[in-house]
Amino acid sequence: MTLAIIRTRASVGLDAPEVLVEVHLSNGLPGLAIVGLPEAAVKESRERVRSALINAGFEFPAKRITLNLAPADLPKEGGRFDLPIALGILVASGQIPEEAVDGLECLGELALDGKLRRITGVLPAAMAVSKAGHRLIVPADNADEAALAGRLEVLPAVHLLDVVAHLVKERVISPHQLGAPPVASLPEMDLLDVRGQHQARRALEIAAAGGHNLLFAGPPGTGKTMLASRLASILPPLDDDESLEVAAVRSVCGLPILERWGQRPFRAPHHTASAAALVGGGSKPRPGEISLAHHGVLFLDELPEFDRKVLEVMREPLESGQIHIARASHQRQYPARFQLIAAMNPCPCGHLGDPRQPCHCTANQVQRYQARLSGPLLDRIDLQVEVPALPAAQLTSTETGESSATVRARVLAARERQRQRGNLNAHLAPRELEAACDLQEGERAWLSDVLNRLNLSARAYHRVLRVALTIADLNDETRVEKKQLMEAIGYRQLDRMMGRGGAS
Ligand SMILES: [Zn+2]
Repeated sequence: MTLAIIRTRASVGLDAPEVLVEVHLSNGLPGLAIVGLPEAAVKESRERVRSALINAGFEFPAKRITLNLAPADLPKEGGRFDLPIALGILVASGQIPEEAVDGLECLGELALDGKLRRITGVLPAAMAVSKAGHRLIVPADNADEAALAGRLEVLPAVHLLDVVAHLVKERVISPHQLGAPPVASLPEMDLLDVRGQHQARRALEIAAAGGHNLLFAGPPGTGKTMLASRLASILPPLDDDESLEVAAVRSVCGLPILERWGQRPFRAPHHTASAAALVGGGSKPRPGEISLAHHGVLFLDELPEFDRKVLEVMREPLESGQIHIARASHQRQYPARFQLIAAMNPCPCGHLGDPRQPCHCTANQVQRYQARLSGPLLDRIDLQVEVPALPAAQLTSTETGESSATVRARVLAARERQRQRGNLNAHLAPRELEAACDLQEGERAWLSDVLNRLNLSARAYHRVLRVALTIADLNDETRVEKKQLMEAIGYRQLDRMMGRGGAS
C-alpha cells in the first residue's frame, strides 16, 4: 500500500464539507510535499505531524511523500487536518491496515509529542458526519460537543497512540456518551428586580411577545440596562433545533457549549467594538456578535456611540436574519436572526428632560448626537420608548413588579396565537399584517389622521399596526381596534422627542 485516503471535514461558515486527505509514497528524495493547503498552514502542519509521529515512536517513511487535500478550492485553515494527515502517512506506509479507516472520519490538531488538541467547529463537522453515517474520531476535549450532533459514533482520543491502538484493534476506544442529555438552564436575571418603570416593562413584554426590536431612551441610572438584560428571561425557551444552531455558532467560535445549552443568547458588545467583532469577519472569517446572538438578544447600549458605518452593516441581517461576509477568495454566510434591544441617553450629557439634574448641552450638540442614528436603522425598531428618571419615592419603594415567569406565560400565549397565523408579528409582510389586524375603514382613517397630526412619518403606520397587533395578541383579542392603536402610538415617543417627524 503506497496510497492512502482519509476522510475529514473543512469548516466553511456553519458548513463542514468533506475533505479527502490523499497520501502517496514514492521512491525518490525523502521529503513531504503538501498540495491543497495555503503555504503557512502547510509549513506548520508538516512540522507538527513529523514531530508527533516520531515522538510517538512511529516510523516516519524515508520516502517521497505527496499529500493532497481535495477538493483544492475549499478554504482550509488551522490544525484540524493534522490527525488525518498523520493517519494517512501511517496507512500509506503500512503501519495501519487500510481497512481500519473504512467508514471513518477524523479531526484534530497534534501537539509535538503526539497529544491531540481541541479544535473549533467540531459540532457542525459532527452533524455532517452523522448524516454521512460514518464514525468520527475527535480530540477527547471535543467529544461532548461532537456527541451533541446525535446518531453517530464519537470516538474520543487523548493521544495519537490511542487512535492507532484503536485502529489496529489493540486497545479499543468505547464510543463517547454524554453524561446526561443537556438540560436548558434558565436565565439568572429576573424582572422582579426592576422597580417602577411600568411603561418600559410593558414595552419589554410587547417586544418579547411579537419579536419586535426595541429602543429605550432616557437619562443614566433609570434602569434601561437592567430592563434590557432581562428580555431573554421572558422569551420562550429554545427548542432543540434552535439550541443546535446556537451551539454550532459557538462551536465555530471555540466557545463553551454545554453550560449554555438551550439558553437564549444575550450579547452586549461595547460601542468600541469593531465591525468585524460585531458582524463577523477578520482574516480568518469568524462569526460576529450578531451571529452569537442568533435566536437571542443583541443589546447595544449607548447606541449613538456606535460607529455609524458599523450600524449600517446591521441592516441586512435585521431584514434577512443572515449575514454575508465577502473575502477575496470566498464568501461566508452565518445566521443572525436576533432581536435588537438598544439604549441611549437623550443627549451627550444624558440629562435632557431629567428633573433631577440640568442638561448642559447646546441645542446644536443635542441635534448632532441624535442625528448619529440613521433613519433606516430606526425604521427597523418598532418600539421606541422613553425611560424617565423616577421620583425618589419610587426608587426607594419596596414594591416589586411581576416575575419573569408570570410575564413569560403571557408572552408564550401571545406567541401561540402568532404561530397559528404563521409568523411572528415583527416579521409579517405589510399585506399579511393588514389582513391580521382587520382594521375597519373608520379606524384606518382615524389612525392616518392621528399620525398626521403628530407629524409621524408614513412609515410609522405599519410599525404602529405591528405593535397594536401584538397588544391584541397579548390581550387574547382577535382584531385590532382603536384602544390597541392608541397604546401602540404611545410607543413612538422618540419620533417626537428627536424631532424626526417634525415636532420636537
Ligand atoms: Zn445634555
